[in-house]
Amino acid sequence: MKILFVSSEAAPLIKTGGLADVSGALPAALRNLGVDVRLLLPAYPQVLNALPQTQVVARLFGLAEFPVAQLLEAVMPDGVPLWLVDCPALYQRDGGPYQDKYGADWGDNAQRFGLLSRVAALLGCADSPLEWRPDVVHCNDWQSGLTPAYLHYAPQPARSVMSIHNIAFQGVFPQQLTPHLGLPWDCFKLDGVEYFGNLSFLKAGLFYADHVTTVSPTYAREIQTDALGFGLQGLLRHRQHALTGILNGIDNTEWNPATDPHLAAPYSSSDLTGKAANKAELQRRVGLTVAPDVPLFGLVSRFTHQKGVDMVLEIAPQLLEFPAQLVLLGSGDAGIQSWAQELAYRYPGQIAVQVKFDEGLSHLIEAGSDVFLMPSRFEPCGLNQMYSQRYGTPPIVHATGGLIDSVVDCNAETLAHGQAAGFVFHDMNAYTLLTTAQRAAVAYRDKTTWHALQTNGMNRDFGWNASAQAYRNLYAHLMGK
Ligand code: ADP
Repeated sequence: MKILFVSSEAAPLIKTGGLADVSGALPAALRNLGVDVRLLLPAYPQVLNALPQTQVVARLFGLAEFPVAQLLEAVMPDGVPLWLVDCPALYQRDGGPYQDKYGADWGDNAQRFGLLSRVAALLGCADSPLEWRPDVVHCNDWQSGLTPAYLHYAPQPARSVMSIHNIAFQGVFPQQLTPHLGLPWDCFKLDGVEYFGNLSFLKAGLFYADHVTTVSPTYAREIQTDALGFGLQGLLRHRQHALTGILNGIDNTEWNPATDPHLAAPYSSSDLTGKAANKAELQRRVGLTVAPDVPLFGLVSRFTHQKGVDMVLEIAPQLLEFPAQLVLLGSGDAGIQSWAQELAYRYPGQIAVQVKFDEGLSHLIEAGSDVFLMPSRFEPCGLNQMYSQRYGTPPIVHATGGLIDSVVDCNAETLAHGQAAGFVFHDMNAYTLLTTAQRAAVAYRDKTTWHALQTNGMNRDFGWNASAQAYRNLYAHLMGK
């Protein structure tokens, strides 16, 4: 079984969010199951710097109007073979994968990710310059969404899977780009790549892929509704028999409190003693008062409306009265950033805000907090609520998407069954979030209940194995096996 896994980011090389965690971990989990999987990424400077040993394996030219590029071969730190689309004109620049350093989208993103999609399709058809040919090309989010459309017009194409990690991001561009990206006008129609008069990369993938997946069973249902389909619900309802939700796993090696190098002290479900040292270190590092018995609420997130960070800020002053402390790590929306910083200024020692992307601090927050906050308005899967359970930090989550599929609410029944591991609320408003936080603070004072919540979460298996098997079965199904 040969799979080409196409992504625009992959940890630990380049990461802006959960897609990188998945692209870094799922291919390795598939390899453990005996699948021959190779990863395809753009050769961003961050990636080239992290991988000094690359080899040119093919020249890529004559692909529509895309600049000449080359294909580099390398190996991921965990041994997964990797190909990089090296096109300095499109990728060699300071900034992130999608935006410049001021947070503005790159003006040529259609070309940047059109090329990634085009090369993926090339490697998946009879025109490939390589001997290795995939049975299935697995595309992820809009950045590789055009791949199934290109494959539709390619000789002897591989089968294709389109995975949605967040349907809110769709890669919508002016229709005039269609021929410049090497697609025939023939595909610019409702049954094709057209989306309200524009060209949509994600819609192309959803329409042309042999199968569509998304990252949790609940989200697979939600994206078929008007409320959460972001305009694509009709197409997804039409394709519901080729749509599957597979819950993401987490990388148990990267996220293991017993061996995590970012922590002040190791700990495990059988001995949680080290957690206190992490709380003290976190409080010191972010400038909170070192107070072992005050419940510390942590949040690590993109600062956006989706993540409900604004609701956390709204309840923050009342939360402190429990008493409690709050630490927030993230960046994004300028209004949310300055509101958060203003609160930290008003409540020194009680609220700490770090506006940046900091992998090490995110691990320490998972370990050093008592409760993790993840009140997303919608959440395809979400990873932090699984990390926090693994770190003995029960999460508070809104009942949506992957959050509901991965967190069991604390009540008398779930406690009795040894399942309770967090707090789930249903009505998305500040009052409910506050009362749920209060519920958590009360449980925190009851040492027996709290210990049960912590160890239930820590002992649950969130690893990739079950999900990787589900993907392998899907590939086998598509190959007619
Ligand atoms: P999304 O992909 O929507 O941003 P996920 O919960 O699926 O949300 O994944 C987010 C990932 O990015 C997690 O690994 C999270 O810890 C990480 N992350 C988000 N913001 C930051 C930050 N400011 N610093 C470090 N890690 C972050």
